[in-house]
Amino acid sequence: MDEFSAALKAAGFMGEIDESLKTRDFYSHDASLFEIRPEVVVAPKNSQDVQRLVKAVKAGRKKNPKLSITARSAGTDMSGGAINDSVIANFNKHFTKIGTVTSESAQVQPGVFYRDFEVETLKHKALLPPYPASRDLCTVGGMVNNNSGGEKSLQYGKTEKFVNELKVVFADGNEYTVKPLNKKELDKKIAQDDYEGDIYKKLFNLIDKNYAAIKAAKPNVTKNSTGYNLWNVWDRETGIFDMTQVLIGAQGTLGFTTDIKFRLVPAPQHSGTLVVFLRDIKPLGRLINKVMTHNPATFEGFDNYTLMLSIKLFFSFHKLIGWKDTIKLAFQLIPNALMLMRGIPKMVLLVEFNGATPEEVSEKVHNMRLDLGEFKAKCLFEEDDNELKQRKFWIMRRSSFQLLRSKVKDKHTAPYIDDLVVNPEYLPQFLPKLRKIIKKYGLLATIAGHMGDGNFHIIPLMKLEEKDERAKLQPSMKEVNELVLKYKGSLSGEHNDGLVRGPWLQQMYGAEVTSLFRKTKEIFDPENIFNPHKKADATWDYSYNHVRDHF
Ligand SMILES: Cc1cc2nc3c(=O)[nH]c(=O)nc-3n(C[C@H](O)[C@H](O)[C@H](O)COP(=O)(O)OP(=O)(O)OC[C@H]3O[C@@H](n4cnc5c(N)ncnc54)[C@H](O)[C@@H]3O)c2cc1C
Repeated sequence: MDEFSAALKAAGFMGEIDESLKTRDFYSHDASLFEIRPEVVVAPKNSQDVQRLVKAVKAGRKKNPKLSITARSAGTDMSGGAINDSVIANFNKHFTKIGTVTSESAQVQPGVFYRDFEVETLKHKALLPPYPASRDLCTVGGMVNNNSGGEKSLQYGKTEKFVNELKVVFADGNEYTVKPLNKKELDKKIAQDDYEGDIYKKLFNLIDKNYAAIKAAKPNVTKNSTGYNLWNVWDRETGIFDMTQVLIGAQGTLGFTTDIKFRLVPAPQHSGTLVVFLRDIKPLGRLINKVMTHNPATFEGFDNYTLMLSIKLFFSFHKLIGWKDTIKLAFQLIPNALMLMRGIPKMVLLVEFNGATPEEVSEKVHNMRLDLGEFKAKCLFEEDDNELKQRKFWIMRRSSFQLLRSKVKDKHTAPYIDDLVVNPEYLPQFLPKLRKIIKKYGLLATIAGHMGDGNFHIIPLMKLEEKDERAKLQPSMKEVNELVLKYKGSLSGEHNDGLVRGPWLQQMYGAEVTSLFRKTKEIFDPENIFNPHKKADATWDYSYNHVRDHF
């Protein structure tokens, strides 16, 4: 790599270039179950640096055909999307500027932490609603490239609905502005006799020629982060061609994001949450469908393992919210703990409502509570519209995975069936079958997720260094994924394909559509320099060979 680093410097690269073992080790993991050590980690200073980097990789491949680059922001990717054996480009160091923010839109660089971005948008009483549960850890660039979603996606949709414009460095090493175009503007682009024109021409032809197959391939669920979002790009009825849509959720396999313009929405004025403790999960599917008739703003949940681990490790929350709030919340947990002593609920559900006034919120929460009457024998309700009181459950929901990762020492989080989505109407049949598979493999799995979307995060705690545990990975994943596909679900609602689900695209979409994904990759990145082995380029052999076996 010395030669590449030297060439990069000679090309005028201004950011850091780090080949130290310590740095390479750090960047050999994201939040997934994989491990791949890069050769070098670089931190571009600005867009010109990203352009120099892409050009240097392209040129370097003549001597070293294995050279490639993977973008990385905060590295919280759970699919293995942010790791690579060649060059890692760290956007979290210098792409950290927040530009103009108004009540309706914001311009921001991809390496900005969501938590910092939100502070600025809230000054304008505005919000970017698809923030993930990792909102305190992740960046907006990661959100765009994973097409992230979270607790508010039930009401507002995912990141794909909030991108007005992107600046992207493509495989020719130049930066382009990408935004929705009308047909006249598209025709003008297509007529350009240059690299950009060629991409527009090829992508338009691919989508227009396969229009019906592409539209039909869109998964029949409210959220999806698998494949390339080809179905959202070209709409014959509106005449709009929006190339941002294929880049959102592409995990940096088609180009690198250097700047983002987001659409924002007004931040909700008042909200309140009904916390439902469910003793028996058999009626969960039916209950979810009932709750959905009330149009909640969010509808989240987590299971008894998550609850008990969160209580056990409660004081670790001080890192997220400070000691003062942690102690306050611990006191507020006492009545809940006393209630829990009468029997641990199997599931805790959080149903949130928004409103223009506190009264409106209370009324919605009250009506919801009444309507859950038929589940009374098996549920306990706690009506709670006090912000701080609610927070202990929201913190458990949002932070449980991170807590497990850092605190459970003898086992490790193994996200490989971590993001399945099944249309809520099928949940009464689907969930018991899912539980059966988890039981069959003896998986100690925490379950949390976005109930209203039928999007479940199942994160087994495993000893992957042990042969017997490792041997469970492939067959249990196969059974769960096949079950999801049987119910016409998606294997990922938010976390994306990366190494873990890329190999499943063919099974999910069929040969024809998967070949369209591969052609899409070829259009943007014919030499496969951007983030290889992910999404349509993934194979299970490669992925499995990089499952972490020491900790
Ligand atoms: C505790 C926990 C909870 C989570 N909960 C959720 C959730 O609720 N919803 C959800 O959607 N996800 C969730 N995730 C996954 C992850 O946090 C999100 O997808 C997040 O948006 C990723 O942001 P990041 O900055 O960490 O991106 P990274 O992990 O750095 O990157 C994510 C992907 O985007 C690519 N990328 C990054 N920057 C760029 C760039 N500038 N140009 C091109 N490609 C780029 C990377 O190559 C990678 O493929 C969770 C993860 C954890 C650890």
